[in-house]
Order: sequence, then structure tokens, then C-alpha cells
Amino acid sequence: MLKLPIYLDHNATTPCDPQVMEVMLPYFTELYGNAASRSHSFGWQAEEAVDYAREQVAKLIGAEPKEIIFTSGATEGDNLAIKGVFEMYAGKGNHILTCVTEHKAVLDTCKHIEKLGGEVTYLPVGKEGIIDLQQLEAAITPRTILIAIMYANNETGTIQPVKEIGALAKKHGVLFFTDATQAVGKVPVDVIKDEIDLLTCSAHKMYGPKGVGALYVRRKNPRVRLTAQLDGGGHEKGMRSGTLNVPGIAGFGKAADLCRHNLEAEGKRLGQLRNKLESALLQLDATYLNGSSTSRLPHVTNISFNFVNGDGLMMGLNKEVALSSGAACTSASMEPSYVLKALGVADDLAHSSLRFSIGRYTTEEEIDFIIRKVTDVVLQLRAMSQIG
Ligand SMILES: *Cc1c(COP(=O)(O)O)cnc(C)c1O
Repeated sequence: MLKLPIYLDHNATTPCDPQVMEVMLPYFTELYGNAASRSHSFGWQAEEAVDYAREQVAKLIGAEPKEIIFTSGATEGDNLAIKGVFEMYAGKGNHILTCVTEHKAVLDTCKHIEKLGGEVTYLPVGKEGIIDLQQLEAAITPRTILIAIMYANNETGTIQPVKEIGALAKKHGVLFFTDATQAVGKVPVDVIKDEIDLLTCSAHKMYGPKGVGALYVRRKNPRVRLTAQLDGGGHEKGMRSGTLNVPGIAGFGKAADLCRHNLEAEGKRLGQLRNKLESALLQLDATYLNGSSTSRLPHVTNISFNFVNGDGLMMGLNKEVALSSGAACTSASMEPSYVLKALGVADDLAHSSLRFSIGRYTTEEEIDFIIRKVTDVVLQLRAMSQIG
């Protein structure tokens, strides 16, 4: 029997893997030390857990443990990377290059930087959601200090040409920061091969706990320096003060380890399920894929259903299927997704689009159910609107 509702919103958050939970539990009870306590075994044990997790997270992205700064999540990492570079490199310049489809944690941080006197260029994307590399290179000026382009988009799953961006950044002596929250643990990410200088990720997007993440800060070729945004006890090499979330960090490490070991097999399995779902839904008339069909995450598809009302679509589905739509609720009004808009998707199509993001525990039976359910609801809504 299928258990309803079916969770298809893994880009919003993932469930915690039971193996991750198991690793975390002792750090709430017996092993409750403060990782910064140097004078007793409680502290040493906590520090040991943090060191081990640092190795596990580093390994997943090809970094050195020393290059991992633990944060409260990707929002904090995005803020620290952008504001930290802006302040530290003020003597070199004040120009940041980013793109219109970034997560709000990057876009709103850039807006803040503009208020502080920074200059930000928001690059457009093509209809597949990918930036133009020539346009990127042409936008670099002697005052440019940072390129901030995400690895994979949270709404569409589209993957940017990260390696090429890294190479361009290096060629022009500009730092490259990537919000890789949706990519880490899902596709191979390698900070050396991709020439990434700063990278954020978050445990709760990869089967770890909420409220913990990491910022990778390159230590050589070049050595990246940041101005701290949280001052205090000098934790995390002075870049992020505050008592470490030891249980969360230990769980994050385990989550990273599980992802690293299962990356290939899991990507393949989820890719097959996603393709099955996607090709079935695209067989309906007037349905369109949003984002790239080639350069993308394996577990995500974003589809617009023409001639259906977006609210009706969501209401018809949300008792049985948990997913996100292409309309974002902003206070009173329903705004179409700015990401889909940037791809050139018309407002009404953006409203009637759905993001399906499947995950570790999604079964083929669930996918079959969802295909039937979405098909039924779409056909029903279309039939009704023809009668009306
Ligand atoms: C989820 C997400 C964030 C925010 O992460 P938190 O850890 O929840 O703060 C930032 N960027 C992207 C691309 C995301 O998907």
C-alpha cells in the first residue's frame, strides 16, 4: 500500500537518513561537550567528532579539511562568502558578478552589497537557464572581485558550466564562489577540477539535519581571505565564531559520507525514475520542460502544463503529493517564479508549472501513482475549463 502524501519536494529539504540520526544522538546526551573546551575529555570528544566530520565533508568535494568552515546552513554560507569577500577585498575593487536565477540568499545579499556601495552585475540566462560565458567574461572589469554563480538551480535543476566559469575566473584573477547547495551529494563536485575558490552547501539538502552547513574556503592557489560576519570566540579560524553544533556537524559528516558512497548508484536510480516521470508527463498535450534537458541534476524536473489553472492544479494534487509550484507566495499576491521568468517562461505558464524533486526513498510505485494522478488532474482541469 502507498503511504500518502508522497514527498516529492527534496529540493526544499530532505528527510534525515536514519544512519545520520544514529550518529548524532550520542552528542545530545553523553557526549555533550563543547568542541572548544580544551581542558577535558568532554571537549576533546566533541572536537574529535567535529574533526572527523570536517574530513568527511571535505572529501565529498575534493577539499582539505582545513578549508571547511561549518556554518548554520547555506544562507549563512552565502552571506559569509559574499560579504566576507566584499569587505576583505575592498582595496582591490567593489564589483561582483552574479546571475538572475541565483537563490534569494545570494540575490538579497548582493542587494545589500549594493546598498553598501558595491556594484553588482546580474547576468541574464538563456532559455535553458544557463549563463553565456562570453557575456560573463565581457562583464569582468579591473574592479571585479568575485563571480558568484550557483552550481545547480534549485527550481529547475539546471547545472551551470562551473568548470568553464572557474577557468575564466582564474584567467582574470577573480575569485569564484558557487552556491552548490543543490549539487553537493547529488553529482560529483570537485573544487580542484572546477577551480572553485568558495563553495556553500547545506546538510538538510543531502539527508542530514537542518541548521548546519559548510563554506569551503580555498587555502592555496590562491589563499582566500574573508572578513568574519560573526565576531566572538574566534571559532572556525576566526571566520565564524559561535559554539559549534556538534550533533548537527557529526550528522552532516555522516550524510556526506553516505552521499559519497552512493553518489553514482543513487544518481543513476533517481535519473531513471525522473526520466520515467518526465517522459510520461511530457506526453500530455501542451506540456513543456523548464530548464536544460542535458546539463542538469538527475532527480529534478520542472514542467509547465498549459491551459490549466495553477491553483487548481496544486489543489488537485496536494492532498496526495507534496511538491512545489512555479508560483511563489509573496505576502498577498502569487508572483510567478523569478527563475522561470528569467528563462522566458510566460507568467501563466510559470503559474501552472510544477517542480518534482525525487529522493533517496522515492519508489517506482510512487512514481507510477504520481504519473496517473497528475495526468488525471490535468485532463480534468482542461475538460472543466472547456465546459466553462
Ligand atoms: C536551500 C538552498 C539555500 C538555503 O539553504 P539553507 O541551508 O536552508 O539556509 C541556498 N541556496 C540554494 C541553492 C538552496 O537550494
